[in-house]
Amino acid sequence: MKNQELNKGKGTGRSTRTKTQAKAKAKTGKPAHRAPKKNASPLKVIPLGGLNEIGKNMTLLEYKDDIIIIDCGMSFPDDGMYGIDSVIPDFDYVIKNSEKLKGVILTHGHEDHIGGIPYLLRMVRCPIYGTRLTLGLVENKLIEHGIDADLNIIYAGDTIKLGVFEIETIRTTHSIADAVCFAINTPAGMIFHTGDFKIDYTPVDGEPIDLGRFAEIGNKGVKLLMMDSTNALRPGFTASEKVVGQTLETIFQGVTSRIIIATFSSNVHRVQKIVNTAVKFGRKVAISGRSMENVVNLAIDLGYITIPAGVLVDINKIKNIPDKELVIITTGSQGEPMSALTRMATNDHKFVQIKKGDCIILSSTPVPGNENAVSNVVNLLFQKGAEVIYSDIADIHVSGHACREELKLMHSLLKPEYFMPVHGEFRHLKTHKDLAISLGQKEDHVFILENGDCLSIAGKTVTKTEGVASGEAVLVDGYGVGDVGNIVLRDRKMLSEAGLIIIVAAIEDATNEIVSGPDLISRGFVYVRENEDLMGAAREVVTDVLDKYMSSGVSDWNILKGKVRDALKSFIYENTGRTPVILPIFMEI
Ligand SMILES: [Zn+2]
Ligand SMILES: [Zn+2]
Repeated sequence: MKNQELNKGKGTGRSTRTKTQAKAKAKTGKPAHRAPKKNASPLKVIPLGGLNEIGKNMTLLEYKDDIIIIDCGMSFPDDGMYGIDSVIPDFDYVIKNSEKLKGVILTHGHEDHIGGIPYLLRMVRCPIYGTRLTLGLVENKLIEHGIDADLNIIYAGDTIKLGVFEIETIRTTHSIADAVCFAINTPAGMIFHTGDFKIDYTPVDGEPIDLGRFAEIGNKGVKLLMMDSTNALRPGFTASEKVVGQTLETIFQGVTSRIIIATFSSNVHRVQKIVNTAVKFGRKVAISGRSMENVVNLAIDLGYITIPAGVLVDINKIKNIPDKELVIITTGSQGEPMSALTRMATNDHKFVQIKKGDCIILSSTPVPGNENAVSNVVNLLFQKGAEVIYSDIADIHVSGHACREELKLMHSLLKPEYFMPVHGEFRHLKTHKDLAISLGQKEDHVFILENGDCLSIAGKTVTKTEGVASGEAVLVDGYGVGDVGNIVLRDRKMLSEAGLIIIVAAIEDATNEIVSGPDLISRGFVYVRENEDLMGAAREVVTDVLDKYMSSGVSDWNILKGKVRDALKSFIYENTGRTPVILPIFMEI
């Protein structure tokens, strides 16, 4: 796999400037994008995901023959998507315009920003640009999918040129290390995308968000700002990751038993804080859960996590370590059914059995939709005699997204001419719009788009066009991408609600007589052994219908199947109030 570093000095890459722009600046003293020509080609901003949802972020910028993509994420299926593994944006527009595609630029390594890449690269070839940790996580994913790719490392401060687009990468802070935002110089002006961010003045890695650079760019003029809206409803400031460290210390101080901490594997800063606290209190650290092991190993390799020699112990060797000298860092903070913490809670973990007095910390808040799963796990752990500390009890998690005061600061620094709230459900986008207006943003300069809409920018003319591309969600199930649609989902829903009855009969074509069956087989409908009367009566209903229509000369099997299905459906409904899926199979012999 090509993993080439761009030959740009760290922090010095800002000087890249095209000749035309340099000339324009020399003549007028203003950047070229300030005075677009009349009838100039528009810059198109087309989000394919991430609007009216939190997940599968993906935005296209298109100018004439050039397209770049900001992020390519996935989201998790909701409750109605039976059997679906993940959800990705519809790449149709990208595939149709693939010859224009110059590259994908990534803000950070969360699944909702990188999870769609393997699926995109199956359809189109293009270089991928991201910071070291982001690309490390992408590379792991691509290896799993067996896909080779052109990966290019960028550093905060670099400027890269893709087609007409000049992209400056700026350091930001978020719940994953190495997050950046992009200031993109285009022929239609400066487009600024914040990525996911919060303003952390005291991040664990000591690399704070580059507010100074934001102010400089804001003073030069930002045409369009796209900003994270996740916490647009939350007042105040998001606390620094430092707070979590302090809470951890307080907890560690008073505990003499074993400590088990569940958190997001991608939050390498949090993992580092846990390791530091463990070291401070003379404890060794064991890692449990596949994704936690993968990310921690990657982060150690790339230098994002440092663990002093002798501190890390193999999870299968923890028996030799006294409880008061051990911390286990595990996956499962969201109550995921197959995760290590859930397996501990259900006695299914190979090396860790929960015992009375264990101190278990869930260092995260449940993502909306996961609340029940998390409280089930918490209850199981309490039942086993463990002490469980979760976010309701102590500050052991802080959000990775900016709250209202931070959003205000960002608006004030960047002072965009136009604003498009992104990364949020409709309520977040609308609230973020109102917040911008309260800061003096003109109402008709704020655009709330839906996935697949297009914002065209040409000078002072900025217009929204609906449905330029497909903003549909594409479902991934096993190896199948997009082959499960609404009809399959409807069937899965019906099967899941009332089960299935299959009617099998063999019919002799020549005589139009039933020679075998009808037999009724059911799955997920009733327990047949305890409902022999019902199933017997159902079989009679089927036999009667077959006899009646076949003796009156009906030989079209589709009509017969329809009659049988209708009769059995009413019989079942009258007797049970249920509507299972009924599937007649007639064999011709
Ligand atoms: Zn994120
Ligand atoms: Zn995100």
